This record gives sequence, structure tokens and C-alpha cells, in this order.
Amino acid sequence: MSDIETGTSYFGVQDPEHATADVERFREAGLDAVLHTFSERDRAFYRESMADIVAASDEWGLTTYVNPWAVGGVFGGEEYSRFVAHNPDSRQVLNTGNRVPAACFNAPTFREYMREWTRDAAGLGADVLFWDEPHWHNVHWYEDGYPDDVWCCRCDHCKERYRERYDEPMPATETEQVSRFRETSMLDFLDEMMALTRNEGATNAVCLMPTQSADHGPRDWAELAKNEHVDVLPTDPYWAAFAEDADPGEYVARFGEELVAVADDHGLRSQLWIQGFGLSGESATDDVRTATRTALDLGADSVFMWGYDGCRTISEIACEDPMAVWDAYLEELP
Ligand SMILES: [Zn+2]
Repeated sequence: MSDIETGTSYFGVQDPEHATADVERFREAGLDAVLHTFSERDRAFYRESMADIVAASDEWGLTTYVNPWAVGGVFGGEEYSRFVAHNPDSRQVLNTGNRVPAACFNAPTFREYMREWTRDAAGLGADVLFWDEPHWHNVHWYEDGYPDDVWCCRCDHCKERYRERYDEPMPATETEQVSRFRETSMLDFLDEMMALTRNEGATNAVCLMPTQSADHGPRDWAELAKNEHVDVLPTDPYWAAFAEDADPGEYVARFGEELVAVADDHGLRSQLWIQGFGLSGESATDDVRTATRTALDLGADSVFMWGYDGCRTISEIACEDPMAVWDAYLEELP
């Protein structure tokens, strides 16, 4: 047994019998932890089933993580949000004035919705709530025709808070003060949810994307790491998804080194995610091996893959040879 926690994300199966069989094989493959996605749909229709799945994972001795899979359209994941359909006034607004299909971190209705999600997610029996890639909406991911410097959010809630904080109207261009406001708004949101998580008996991980943009929360990870409610500091340096022609070892090391250092400085557990989706070509398995070895060599406390079986079941983002990617990851683990 190694001290390093090893795990995978798991999703798309709401039948506890089938999920338990998968969890059992994760355990037999030597993993210590599993992340279960808990989408708006899961919460609405499968809550008891999800609780059974989390309980089965716990019985198999796995540490359980639960994430808000694309909830509100502001966390990562291959899911839709019903919240934004039902609450148009809680949506983010671009500086161009267009509303986008993602909830605003400053919208009171969304904050209340997320408090309920948090209680329910902790109530599944999760050990850790995994705040996954919280981000302001990036319209360029979905639509063409917007200027390069477009940003979110300039909704009435944001404008009001901005005026309260700075005693001046919120500009339509992204000044440094606007970037700062975007960062602190997300940190305020996370602080509230993480405090509640602790009250509900679970711990917190916040997965920040490997970028230097205020679209994705604090540009300086220490701003998050110093929060009193955070326990685990992950990042997900997905070399083939977030960069072009990146060398996997170099890319994982570039962000992983900083992540481990910031986590160590603040007494947090560090966690690095290995890309296990959308990989194709002959180098895919070697790249996964290199990335996994790099993460282990950096001294991360926890290593996970997104996601199990190389995302075989999510055909849109599955690896070309998903099981080869999955096996390569498992073989590199201690
Ligand atoms: Zn807003």
C-alpha cells in the first residue's frame, strides 16, 4: 500500500447493482477513491439510488467524492442544467448585454439552490464534496461571433454588489478591478458552500482549471488555498484538451509543481487529475503513462483519472481506445 490516494471519476450509471460491480473492480484494481457525479438530474430523480451507490463505495473501502456535475452550467461536466431553464433571471449576462445559459454565482436564487444541492450531496454520505471547475461562462466554447474580450457577469446582482463594494458603477470593459471582483465573487460563493459542507459533515476539494484567467476563479491559487474550509486542492492539467501540441509531461509538471507547492504551503492535500478522455492516436497510452508518472513524481497526495474506462461510455469524448488508456493509467499507479 502506498500513501498516495488513487482514484477515478464514475458517472452515467444509476443502477446500484451495476455501479457496485464497477466499484468492486475499481477496488480490485487497487484504487482507493471514487468520485460520483451528482447532476441536477440525479438529484431530481435518482437521489436514493445515488445514496445506495455512495454507500456501496464506502462499504468497499473507497473514499467517496461527489461533484455538482454541470449544475447551473457553472461546473464541469457532460450534463444540462434545468435550473437555468427555470430561472432565466438568475442567468449570467455578458458585458454585451446577452444572457447566457449559466447561473450567476451572485444570484440569490442560485445561491439558495446550491445550498440545497450541498445539503443533499453531503446527505448521500460523501466524504468529500468536489467543487469541479467552477467558471464564469465562456461564450467562445459554444458560439462564434463574440469579441475576444467578452466577459461575464454583468447582471443586475453583480452590478449591485460591485457598486456596494467599490462605490461606483460596474464598467462594461474588464478592468483589473472587474477581474478582481469576478475572482472574489467566486471565492465568496465557494466559501459559503464549503462552510455549509463542513457543517454537513463532509470535507471540501476545489478543482481549479490550469489557466491564468479570472474566468476560472482566482488567478493566484493561494487566494483559494488560504480559505479555512478547503481541505484538498486539485487541478486538472488535461494536456490534449486545454492546450495545443502540449507535451503531457511538461504540461502536467508546469501546473502540478505549482499546485503541490501551494497545497503544501497551506497544509492542504494536493490532487492531480490525469486526462482519460478524448485521446486518440498512437501516443495516447504513452502520454497517459507519462502524465501519471509525472503527477506521482511531483509528490501529489492524490491522483485521479477522468474518467473510468477512458470515458468509454461517453461516446462524444471517449478515447479512441478507451480501455488501453484506462489500463495504462492503472498500470502506472503504485
Ligand atoms: Zn451576475
